[in-house]
Amino acid sequence: MDIQRNGATPSTPGPEAHFTGQVRMDMRFSRPDPARVGGVMITFEPGARTHWHTHPLGQTLIVTAGLGWAQQEGGPITEIRPGDIVWFAPGERHWHGATPTIAMTHIAIAEALDGVSVDWAEAVSDTQYRAGPG
Ligand code: MN
Repeated sequence: MDIQRNGATPSTPGPEAHFTGQVRMDMRFSRPDPARVGGVMITFEPGARTHWHTHPLGQTLIVTAGLGWAQQEGGPITEIRPGDIVWFAPGERHWHGATPTIAMTHIAIAEALDGVSVDWAEAVSDTQYRAGPG
């Protein structure tokens, strides 16, 4: 058994290469081979979101606070709320983040394929984001 104690892992900012706006990452973990699951709690300030991306083995989001938006390419922007558990299938292009006015926190869990759990693409433009759930 291993316990990663609260306070042992500093909060880190979401890098500008992968996120738009103010993003904070906490509680990151990554399990050793033969396990390949990893996760992180991500807090998006209002307006903040990921860039477009895919996960080679999919991703589960557990929304824990606030109000968020998520979108798979070609689909509508959809509200996600605390208690919602979101699944993105392997290779499904998507993004997730806060709404323009309400912050959102989720726990993101993904397995790595050959050490890679996410493949990043371009930013979600303001026009794409502001379209909202319609
Ligand atoms: Mn994702």
